[in-house]
Amino acid sequence: MYRIGLDIGGTGIQMGIVNEKGQILARSGIETRLDIPFSEQVALMADCCKNMIKEGGYSLLDIVSIGAGVPGIGNQKTGEVVFCTNLGWHHVPFREEFRKHIDKPVFVDNDATVAGLAESVAGVSAGTASSVFITLGTGIGSGIVIGGRVWSGFHGTGSELGHMILETDGILCTCGNHGCVERYCSATAIIRMARDLLQRHPESMILDMCGGDPSKINARMVIDASREGDPVGEKVFRRFIRYLSQTIANVMNFLDPEVVVLGGGVSRAGSYLLDAVRTTVPDYILYKDLPMSRIELAKLGPDAGIIGAAMLS
Ligand SMILES: [Zn+2]
Repeated sequence: MYRIGLDIGGTGIQMGIVNEKGQILARSGIETRLDIPFSEQVALMADCCKNMIKEGGYSLLDIVSIGAGVPGIGNQKTGEVVFCTNLGWHHVPFREEFRKHIDKPVFVDNDATVAGLAESVAGVSAGTASSVFITLGTGIGSGIVIGGRVWSGFHGTGSELGHMILETDGILCTCGNHGCVERYCSATAIIRMARDLLQRHPESMILDMCGGDPSKINARMVIDASREGDPVGEKVFRRFIRYLSQTIANVMNFLDPEVVVLGGGVSRAGSYLLDAVRTTVPDYILYKDLPMSRIELAKLGPDAGIIGAAMLS
């Protein structure tokens, strides 16, 4: 028995046929079309699915269910995508529409949530009873898995760690609140902090790395500069690690998961990031004489979107 996972993004839709171990056996993909109505977007996805099944030598009878991860909010109960700004979807009946083309159980959830589920099935948190996955990218996403099932809340709007407020009267967030985690722990935050400091410290190697153009700074440059001992890079990285560690400690103090998994672009800093976080989180943990939740790096990479979506049930 196999399941299909769809990783729906703003520029492309990747999909795969996944077995029970979380291995991708066949894959396909299409570009995201923003110039056509929702029903046509779904029709194209379903066509791509059917072709993938056929070309892989499978039959629709082999497929148990279809799951989709979206960069937005999905309601597990109704199968509705509540909103997905990148695709211009707002309260669209994803399950109902998809089943017009392929009549199988259809599930939909947030992309970070499904990536967390993938890690808990076939990745670094496999075999654990509870895990929290945090993606550190342009923004911050998160997924909670408890007892092998995702927890997205009563309305499907839970596990929005990126919009937990970390600083009262802090920086304005895209959500309209001030001081959200996303404004302090994302790649965007690293870039902002570096640009601010560079104004007073133009001697920093970061300015050379970006060719003298601060608009070209990325998080990797700042972290690399920190590794090299550049004072601006180090200061930004230390500040970022403090915010991130406080966020992780909040998660641990609140949920006490077995593992916290870090994924997303910034997690490619690898052991440099992991070691710093593992050293700093204990400062903010409540029960310091008890064992702390493990902190690990995600290991499935971009495939997590397909694998986790397929595992939705
Ligand atoms: Zn926010």
